[in-house]
Amino acid sequence: AKQAGRNTFRFFSTSMNQCQREQLELQNDMHAALENGEFELYYQAQVDAHSKSANGFEALLRWNHPTRGLLTPYTFMDIAESTGLILRIGAWVLLEACHQARAWQNEYQREVRMAVNLSALQFNDTRLAGQIEHALLESGLSPHLLELEITESAIITNMAETNYVLFGLKRLGVKLAIDDFGTGYSSLNYLRNFPIDTLKIDKSFVDYIDRNDKDAAIARTIVQLAENLGLSTVAEGVETLSQQQVLEGMGCQELQGYLYSKPITATEVENRYFK
Ligand code: C2E
Ligand code: CA
Ligand code: CA
Ligand code: CA
Repeated sequence: AKQAGRNTFRFFSTSMNQCQREQLELQNDMHAALENGEFELYYQAQVDAHSKSANGFEALLRWNHPTRGLLTPYTFMDIAESTGLILRIGAWVLLEACHQARAWQNEYQREVRMAVNLSALQFNDTRLAGQIEHALLESGLSPHLLELEITESAIITNMAETNYVLFGLKRLGVKLAIDDFGTGYSSLNYLRNFPIDTLKIDKSFVDYIDRNDKDAAIARTIVQLAENLGLSTVAEGVETLSQQQVLEGMGCQELQGYLYSKPITATEVENRYFK
């Protein structure tokens, strides 16, 4: 369907199936959701592999839908992307995450690194650097405390353009992480040219890391590659002590997953980590 204008609501045709109707309903609801303050950030700790203390948090988007309850990105991210609404939502996420990190620093005298996910659409939007600069200035957060998580597929689409964008972001002083590393159309080539700080080892390699030699070999190779290039590593989706033990043995620097904390609200973060 063609992009409908603001406040234009589409007809629910009887030929649509239940799923299509729901998608269309969600799409209509999403326009109002930003204005109504229905989006919320949850935060998941990224812990130091040795001390297990939180070095930072990843901001993860949630939608408090008025009738459907709390929605995770799985249910609405495709719609946010296909409608382009992710651009406005993403700008809000950046501002909110920076404000939160700075508020924690003010209130608890703790320098908290904040990781924010960027969609491919945001990454290719020429306004991105300006939005990030605005979020940093408005919140007062030090740029080195903001880490942008970008997937390989967002980076690979246009290498020359990407180089320009990434260096533009680095010039602001922020950190750059490759999310879901090893799952995209990987080309190790870009690691040589682009100003990356962190590789995030995808959960799919972590899931069976204590049982599957191949997964363990891939994870170990990523950690060594990162080490050789002077990058840091974060393993995602750590759920068991056994996975933790293997990752520690490999020298992975930071760990993230349900073993330490699920994504929780800002208030829960304060009670759990700062008080
Ligand atoms: P991601 O960036 O790879 O985030 C990790 C996902 O794994 C999160 O799902 C997190 O809740 C989940 N997770 C973390 N630890 C564990 C674990 O130990 N076990 C299991 N089973 N899952 C774990 P979530 O919050 O549903 O987010 C899903 C995806 O949505 C994210 O994947 C990211 O790609 C996207 N996303 C989330 N927030 C934003 C946002 O603000 N902007 C954009 N553009 N994308 C976002
Ligand atoms: Ca992420
Ligand atoms: Ca990830
Ligand atoms: Ca993922």
